[in-house]
Amino acid sequence: MATLREQFATNVLTVTKFRELMRRMRATRPNDDLGLIRKAYEYSQKHHAGQTRASGEPYLVHPLEVALVLSEMKMDPVAIVAGLLHDSVEDTSVTIVDIRKEFGEEVAHIVEGVTKISAIDFASREEQQAENLRKMVLAMVDDIRVVLIKLADRLHNMRTLEHLPIERQQKIAQETLDIYAPIAHRLGMGKIRGELEDLGFKYVDPIGYEQVHQAVEARRKAGEEFLARVEIIVRDKLQEAGITAKVESRIKRIYSIHKKLQRQRISVEQVYDLYAMRIVTQSLQDCYAVLGIIHNLWRPVPGRIKDFIAMPRPNLYQSLHTSVISEEGQAFEVQIRTDEMHKMAEEGIAAHWKYKDGPVSARDEQRLSWLRQVVEWQRDVSDPTEFLSTLKIDLFPEEVYTFTPKGKVVVLPRDSTPIDFAYSVHTEVGHTCVGAKVNGRMVPLRFKLHSGDIVEILTQPGHKPSRDWLSVVRSSRARNKIKHWLNLHQRERAIEIGRKLIEKEARKYRVTLKAINDEDLQKIASDYGLGRPDDLMAGIGYGKYSARSVLARLAPSSNAPISDADAENVGGIASVVRRVFGGDHDNHAIRVKGQGDLLVYRARCCNPIRGEEVVGYVTRGKGVAVHAQTCPNVVNLMYEPERRIDVEWARDDSIPSSYPVKLTVSCDDRFGMLKQITAVISDSKTNIRNVEARTGSGQASIDIVLDIADLKHLENIISGVRKIPGVHDVQRLQKV
Ligand code: MN
Repeated sequence: MATLREQFATNVLTVTKFRELMRRMRATRPNDDLGLIRKAYEYSQKHHAGQTRASGEPYLVHPLEVALVLSEMKMDPVAIVAGLLHDSVEDTSVTIVDIRKEFGEEVAHIVEGVTKISAIDFASREEQQAENLRKMVLAMVDDIRVVLIKLADRLHNMRTLEHLPIERQQKIAQETLDIYAPIAHRLGMGKIRGELEDLGFKYVDPIGYEQVHQAVEARRKAGEEFLARVEIIVRDKLQEAGITAKVESRIKRIYSIHKKLQRQRISVEQVYDLYAMRIVTQSLQDCYAVLGIIHNLWRPVPGRIKDFIAMPRPNLYQSLHTSVISEEGQAFEVQIRTDEMHKMAEEGIAAHWKYKDGPVSARDEQRLSWLRQVVEWQRDVSDPTEFLSTLKIDLFPEEVYTFTPKGKVVVLPRDSTPIDFAYSVHTEVGHTCVGAKVNGRMVPLRFKLHSGDIVEILTQPGHKPSRDWLSVVRSSRARNKIKHWLNLHQRERAIEIGRKLIEKEARKYRVTLKAINDEDLQKIASDYGLGRPDDLMAGIGYGKYSARSVLARLAPSSNAPISDADAENVGGIASVVRRVFGGDHDNHAIRVKGQGDLLVYRARCCNPIRGEEVVGYVTRGKGVAVHAQTCPNVVNLMYEPERRIDVEWARDDSIPSSYPVKLTVSCDDRFGMLKQITAVISDSKTNIRNVEARTGSGQASIDIVLDIADLKHLENIISGVRKIPGVHDVQRLQKV
């Protein structure tokens, strides 16, 4: 329990800071309603009451300091409110729902975003992934204010880092250098970036920091005197030329000197821009006029003149840079820019991000015009790894950034599923994947992953990929691996079927297959232009060659008729094929265009139903296989294009048709769910053949086999079931 005296001291400290915040907000946003800021302050005070920081200060100081940094960025009241509340969900009993109720959707959304990013533990993550982690942070952000609050939060934490234990200092400082300072840089926020870097450097490498610090301090006095002298000369010349401009100078920041020394392997004396002067003009023309004046005064260093006005940097930084050498041989850099460019350089995105009152569309327009600029500039960037290419992804996401449980970042295309994730880990993990946990909760395999998700794949040895996965996966890696597996195993199956067909024929004609040796088989395979006996068996299995004619060649002495005229054999072979493939006659429901009386069957792989777009393939020995237009086999399989044949559903409605169709429903495992689903189905007078349900972790997966008349019927049922509360997804499985 805090004493009265302590409570009083706390109040004085925080009230002073709060007054400063309100004073600044009134100055920068005189027309805004600041009532919500006071409410957020009181709310934060109430919920952080009694909490202290490592420094011993009341916790409330932290959100207040964060809000003060945000007010320096001239952020809007919504951002200030969210800044005051940014730790309340993480560190107090407050929930997002509470915040939404008290402060509205916008504030809640931002606080939620900040909380999500804060929850990521970057330090335990694999090294060398800083770039991906930075992208992930931005990919998780759909409101740029989330990043700005996170940066303000980090800045205050870095300013007060001395109070933490050394390991925590190291971890937070490294993270600042790896993640947050680069983000500030890419957003063009020079001031915050500089401070974050110097503070980070100080804790990560205290000795290196001290060395540069001392080298700079040793030159500081002489440097400051030198800069004061040249400032006077410049001011006089500007006045002579009638140019109004602000002139200021600085000694380069410690971390950027350190980087330069490291990169160029030079000493502090050789850093051209250790001393730098900045001239902020009122117009663009003046920038170039000032450049002329400077070059008249001092000799420019060749190759050091840069025109970032004509060619802005990707982070929108604009300025003229030149390095010149004074009479006494001291090099220094001069940066020349307009007032507007200067604001952009210092505040970056915050300078562009002035939230106006008014309709959302105006705000969106502003956002889009800013983005258009970024995208345009980004096209001119020669380095493809430039960070800005990802800013586009963030706001129009094309990728998701997810974690393995061990902290490796896995980058996947947008809308990727746990199956994509599994295949990106390892092909075998993909093949044997049976389920997944995202952030500790079971999800269906078609669950769409979000940035920041921690994904754990559940595998089961011996489990096999399913063709249905092809319609679920987004990554080409997963797609290719699944296709490859299917092709391989389809071939195995075809070989097996081929053997069975041959054996069957052999029994029929009383040929002993034992008498046939591999040499004979090899010879016949060669006759067919094939490499190996297995190719021949696969060919029979696929229906390319008839078992009877192969047998006739294998055993010419048998009484098998030596004929390749498959049409004669269609009946016999087809009966075998039907048994093996389980295909059923649909002669009446499907019509081959321009042909009558052909053996037609619905391909087992996709089980097309009336109303679906279908395509036929003439097989040898099996008749016409009818596939759904969308069946992957249509593109993939070994069929030759000339075997394609147009088929259509018979118009004759008097032919009753119904097809077994299997649906899989992912839903919450709650009481009455199954009853509700079956009620929806029986309401549409549909026969249910079979129902299987699996449950676990509050989720259920229900497979239902229905008698379906046509596509429309099926679509009605799927949309009806999807409307049931608690149903996440309904999918048709191709195999029944
Ligand atoms: Mn914080």
